[in-house]
Amino acid sequence: MWAAGDCVESVQRLSGQRVVVALGTHANKQGRVIGVNIGGGYATFPGVIGTAVTKVCELEVARTGLSAAEADTGYRYVTASVDSTTRAGYFPAIWNEMGVDEILGLDLSYAPPFAPVWDPVLIAARKAFDAVEADTHT
Ligand SMILES: Cc1cc2nc3c(=O)[nH]c(=O)nc-3n(C[C@H](O)[C@H](O)[C@H](O)COP(=O)(O)OP(=O)(O)OC[C@H]3O[C@@H](n4cnc5c(N)ncnc54)[C@H](O)[C@@H]3O)c2cc1C
Repeated sequence: MWAAGDCVESVQRLSGQRVVVALGTHANKQGRVIGVNIGGGYATFPGVIGTAVTKVCELEVARTGLSAAEADTGYRYVTASVDSTTRAGYFPAIWNEMGVDEILGLDLSYAPPFAPVWDPVLIAARKAFDAVEADTHT
């Protein structure tokens, strides 16, 4: 018996908790895992990190990882925010379990049509790094 898509739970890679995230991105990957296994191969679904994006008129909204409310269930955490007008690209930092100190050194692309010279991801990482530093010394 195989199941995939909106009817299944996934493992949240950051918390290890089982979550229900009804998104086509996961349904497609899970369906492929089933197909590979039924075809005699071996594949597993690696889990989710809560990535989603939507757009309402000109307002673009995205998220990934744990929200503050989700982290509030037992994690020590800090928050940092940044305002930006740029478009966000796919960014695998959480997937690779990088710390904010490692993100600071990422060689991200810069060209006027795509991002400012200081990519908002780097600006956010810098603010998060400062917040972690401040939290560490309290
Ligand atoms: C309005 C809307 C917008 C969305 N936008 C996004 C998005 O931007 N990005 C994203 O990642 N996800 C999005 N999603 C979620 C995404 O569509 C679902 O997560 C995904 O389609 C789930 O795939 P699934 O195969 O589990 O289920 P479904 O795609 O719902 O497929 C289930 C199929 O089973 C059929 N079925 C039901 N009962 C029976 C039965 N008894 N016998 C035979 N067939 C049956 C249904 O007709 C359907 O075709 C959106 C969903 C909605 C509703």
